[in-house]
Amino acid sequence: MDARADKLIHSAAFKPRPKGRGKKAPRSVSILSKPRPKGRGVEGLIKNWQKRNILGLYCRNKEEAIDKLLEIIPPSATIGISGSVTLDQLGIARRLEARGNFIFNQYKPGLSPQESLELRRQGAQADYYLTSSNGISEKGELVFFSGFGQRICGIASAKNVIVVAGMNKLTPNLEAALKRAREYATPLNCKRLNWNTPCFKDGICRKEICLFPEYRRMCCQILVIEAEVAPDRLKVILVGESMGF
Ligand code: SF4
Repeated sequence: MDARADKLIHSAAFKPRPKGRGKKAPRSVSILSKPRPKGRGVEGLIKNWQKRNILGLYCRNKEEAIDKLLEIIPPSATIGISGSVTLDQLGIARRLEARGNFIFNQYKPGLSPQESLELRRQGAQADYYLTSSNGISEKGELVFFSGFGQRICGIASAKNVIVVAGMNKLTPNLEAALKRAREYATPLNCKRLNWNTPCFKDGICRKEICLFPEYRRMCCQILVIEAEVAPDRLKVILVGESMGF
């Protein structure tokens, strides 16, 4: 992780806070903030993905990532897209639509909940499904948390899947990736989307009480990708910047 990405993590507007006053920040945050050697780490990760039948591609910045996506995805392909701050920051849906790709866009203004759900379902069957990960281990495992499960469905069933992730998503191991997703990314997403969860107010996960009807739990389904069977189906574009949560 380079110094700039590390600085961006520290400047996040909302961070999970410890339960008691004076306690140290959650371990996941300190693990994430540790600077690590950029070159060797990225090369090692891409090699680890190779062994898992996942194609890893490194882009130095957002602009390169956009170019790479436009290069990989044919203009005639249909696209499913998951809710993702990373993808929003790239503005990739707009770019793809502008050149003629059809996007099953569940976020189009004016859609009813039923229409939005139907587009999510169709998007999961698209030629390409775009998403981001909540945590990535150095061995290459990819962690995804989901509320409705459509993202998990898209990743599992779309003909091609491209995961775009900033360097801030890297963690030392699977345990830390899961911890990051639960204790860092999800509270930020609850805050962003105004979800009624225990972590909404203070950023602390209390999963034991995060149940219906008192709360509307966000992290309901979890997917861990260890490897991919179909050649060329799963690609990860790793961006040398901090992106999303
Ligand atoms: S289980 Fe509930 S409190 Fe914990 S991170 Fe998920 S949504 Fe937040």
